Order: sequence, then C-alpha cells, then structure tokens
Amino acid sequence: MTRIGIIICGRYQSCGGGKCFRALRERVGAFARYPKEDPVEVVGFSYCGGCPGGNVESVPEEMKNNGAQVIHLATGLIVGYPPCPRIREFKAFIEARYGLPVVVGTHPIPLKYLSVHEKLPFWTDGGMEDLAADLLAEDRAVMEAYN
Ligand code: SF4
Repeated sequence: MTRIGIIICGRYQSCGGGKCFRALRERVGAFARYPKEDPVEVVGFSYCGGCPGGNVESVPEEMKNNGAQVIHLATGLIVGYPPCPRIREFKAFIEARYGLPVVVGTHPIPLKYLSVHEKLPFWTDGGMEDLAADLLAEDRAVMEAYN
C-alpha cells in the first residue's frame, strides 16, 4: 500500500479530479510508477492556495499526518499556460521540510495541451523535459485519450 497526497494548481481549484483519479485507476501518467497490483490510497487532495502557492507551505503536513508517503504535484501545474513557475521550489521545499518525495505530475498530459506547448517557449525555458520526463515519455495515444 502506498499513500499519496495530491496538490493541484489554484487556477483549477474547482477541479473535481476526474483525470487524476482515472489515471490512478489506470496506472498511467505519473502513476505508472506504482504496480497495478499494489493498492494506492489518496489521503489528501488540495490546491496550492493560488499564486504564489502559500498553501504548499502547510498542506503537506496534513497529508503526512494522514499517512502520505509521496506528494504529487498535479499535471495542471505543468500544462497550464504558462506552467507554474514555482514547481521546482515547491518540490524542493516539500522534500526538505517534510521529508516526503515529490513527484511532478499526476494524469497524462492531454495531447491537445502538448500540441500547443510544443509551439511555445515555456517548457524549454523552464527545463520541463527534465522535470516532467516521465509524463513527456507517455504514449501519444494515451495522451490523446486524456484530451
Ligand atoms: S501557477 Fe503555481 S502558484 Fe500559481 S496557482 Fe498554479 S500552482 Fe499555484
């Protein structure tokens, strides 16, 4: 059993989490790292609090207290226009402050978002190829299924 917490971008704070929970069930995107036969429980789901992300300072504590072993920064932080500029800081802070590993991403990148990002400078300027390498290596057919 692995217990995880998910933090989404404040721009999508009303999101119902459909793509994240589907991807967890299907074990695709950033959840492909967990074997299908091993249960994964979401013990916390919240948002960053809106720019500049003040909730990131505190919400992992509640997740950790509820058993979280890993924190996922949702794919929305990556695929928004522009992507969240604080992903690296959030990851470094949570790992240093709470001792929990942070995975960048949840559900697969929807192909329609990838198609636009490939025409924009944000990802290359922000080093997204390194930060979200697993997501970017996803099968394009899977990405399309998450449009
Ligand atoms: S862009 Fe980053 S800091 Fe701003 S609302 Fe989204 S996750 Fe939060």
